[in-house]
Formats: sequence, structure tokens, C-alpha cells
Amino acid sequence: MSPALPSLTVEADRVHGELEALAALVEPDLPGWTRTALGPVDRQARELVRRWMRDAGLETHVDGAGNIFGRLRGTGSGRTLMVGSHTDTVVGGGRFDGIVGVVGALEAVRALREADVRLEHDLVVVDFFHEEPNEFGLSCVGSRAMVGELTQAHLELRDEQGRTLADALATVDVDPSALLAARHDFTGVDAFVELHIEQGPYLEEHGSQIGLVESITGISRFRALFSGQADHAGTAPMDRRRDAGCAAAGTVLAVERIAGEGMQSRGTSGQLTFTPAAVNVVTERAEFRGEFRGPEAEWLRSAQDALTSAAQDEGARRDVDVEVEWLPLQEPMPMSGGVVSVLGDVVDGLGLSSTRLFSGAEHDAALMARAVPTGMLFVPSRDGRSHCPEEWTDLPDVAAGVTALTHSLVALDRRDPPPDWDGAPG
Ligand SMILES: [Zn+2]
Repeated sequence: MSPALPSLTVEADRVHGELEALAALVEPDLPGWTRTALGPVDRQARELVRRWMRDAGLETHVDGAGNIFGRLRGTGSGRTLMVGSHTDTVVGGGRFDGIVGVVGALEAVRALREADVRLEHDLVVVDFFHEEPNEFGLSCVGSRAMVGELTQAHLELRDEQGRTLADALATVDVDPSALLAARHDFTGVDAFVELHIEQGPYLEEHGSQIGLVESITGISRFRALFSGQADHAGTAPMDRRRDAGCAAAGTVLAVERIAGEGMQSRGTSGQLTFTPAAVNVVTERAEFRGEFRGPEAEWLRSAQDALTSAAQDEGARRDVDVEVEWLPLQEPMPMSGGVVSVLGDVVDGLGLSSTRLFSGAEHDAALMARAVPTGMLFVPSRDGRSHCPEEWTDLPDVAAGVTALTHSLVALDRRDPPPDWDGAPG
């Protein structure tokens, strides 16, 4: 079925060298490998990536959203394949999340050029700006802008100090109006592929070298505010308190309970603040931010209703006012059935073991899939750990992923889009 694979050599040492070089560019006073998109070091890292793109023979440019592109000209079909990921990290994060996909795409370009394999398509490598969520509750800023889903309302989001996202972007020289205008023209783009670490334990537990992602989680985030009354911790009787902290705590437990009732669903209360933050004062005001994730949009909507009503019950029991505000629901995103089947054939042809799976983590690929037939390849994460300094993928596993990615690009280049190109994963 699939044509013979060309002879291509991926150099694990070069991949390792670039992973190390990026791991050296971190914010000095923060734990782990911290390089946040709105922080002081990310720009340096992205400049380095741009230099690597040029060294690999790519024509580079940066769009209004801060995404970096490197183009390898094809033999002239005028059509394009895209490949890439991100290089920013979360605070206290690791050295592999996103980075493997950018460095891996660069190595794919070098391997193709060294083997003299010319693609008919132009191949565009992308380092997406600002994939990880920020203190404004927004993630995938660059890819969101590319597919035209970034709005003025996003730029007006405020952090706890009252600063807007637009203000924060200006400090890293990203012009908010250029960002809104950075919608990409995807005409002639036949596919996007992202290589990424799994960030969970599934591949390791199943002894698989490669994960073929079938769909990416939906996400529903909220901010809940509880307003009660400050009182003396020693004299205010328990039955007369309006304790906003207790109402918030009950709602935190409701997140856990609701998520536990769904299939493959997750619920997390990531941020909770009490005001005044004093051991001897009944909490007047509590604010918390949390989220639900899952593969089914319908479940996410029912979880929103269940959580809002749980928060109201917790408030009502204590005469505490409750406001629950939901960010727009990010729908679960299936990958292109056509692309996934090409990736699967390539992985089988290389003799690599693989598993089809669902991604509980968000990715630029979920945004790109709105505009382009998209697929993702995962490589294993040791102990399933990610977004922490312990995040780790063995170099041979990274190299296997890069090899699969490189051959996938060749296979996508040589295959005419089948009629079910945009179909649901098989
Ligand atoms: Zn990532």
C-alpha cells in the first residue's frame, strides 16, 4: 500500500544539542526550566530558533502574532505542508514540552536536505508564539491568532493586578492590533503535523514508541467569586458566619466530584485566593479559577451547569454571594482521519510500535485543526510527568519520533488528499 520509504538519517546528537541549548535559556530566579512567553528570556530563545531555521536553509519570517516561520521551497506544486510546535514553557516546566516538536521539525528539514529528498510541497516549520497558558487564562495565543480565533475580548482579559493582556504583550514587543490582524491564509496548505511529548503515562504503560493522536481535549475554564463577610475568628459564632472561604472550598470539592463522574474527564481547581488572607479573620472574599477537560463537548456543558449550581448551593447555605464566569468553551478537536492514517502507515512501515490515543493536554494542533487537516505524533514521557522539572523523554524515543515525523512529511507530500481527508479519525 504505502510506497517504499526513502533512506533518511536523523542525527540524534544534533537534536540533543538543540534541546540543551534551549534548556540553557531560562529565567534565572524561577524553578525548573522556566521560559514564559511574556517573560524576559523567551525572545532570546526564539531568536535562536530563527537562526537555526536559517542555518537549516529556511527562509524565515515572523508574523504579527510573533509566530516564527521557516520555509523550505518545494519543487513547485505551490502547495504547502506545515510542521512545528512551541518553545515557551510554564513556570517550573521541563525541557521537552513543545521544544521537541520545533527542534524535531528542524532536524526533519536537515535530514531531507542531506538525503537530497526534494518535496513537491513547500515545507513550513513554525515555532508558535505563546502556547502555554498565561496569568490571563489564555493559551495558544499565536496559533489562535493564525486561525482567526483571537478577539479583542481576549486582549482585554485582566490579570490579578488589573493589567490587560494587551499591555502585557506590548512589554514583549507584540503589537496587539497586529496580533488581531495576523490571521493566516491557509489556501493551499494540505496538512499540519505536530510532534510532541505525551505528557501522560499511556505510551510508557503500553510499551509504545509512538502515539497517534485521534483527538484533543475540550477545555472549559471558569472564574468563581464568593463574597461573604469578614468577622473575628474567635467571637463570630459558627452559625452566623458568611464565610466565603468555606463556600469556595465546597466548590473546589465539587470540581473533583463532577470530573470523577465523567468518562476520561478531568477537573482541576488550580488557583484559590482568600481575602483578607489572615489566620484570625473569617474570609470575606474568595476567588478561584478552575477548569474541566474531556473528549465530549456535551459532557463539558453539563459539567458547567453542575458546577455553577454546586457553587450557588455552597453560597446559599452560608449567605455568600456567588458569581461564576465561564470562558468560551474550547470544543474537543478531532484530528484529520486522512492525516492520522498516513502517519499510522508510516509508523508501521518504520517498524515502530504505536497506540492511538486521546490528548488530555491542549496543543497548537487543536487550533490548527480548525483550518488545516492536522495530525499529531506523541513520544513517551517518563512516569507520565510534565509541566515539572522531572519532565523527561529518552533521546532514542525523541529520535524515533523525529524519524516518524520526517517520513510522515514525505508520505504526506507524495499522497494526493483522499476524499475523506477531513473525515473523523478511523
Ligand atoms: Zn506543549
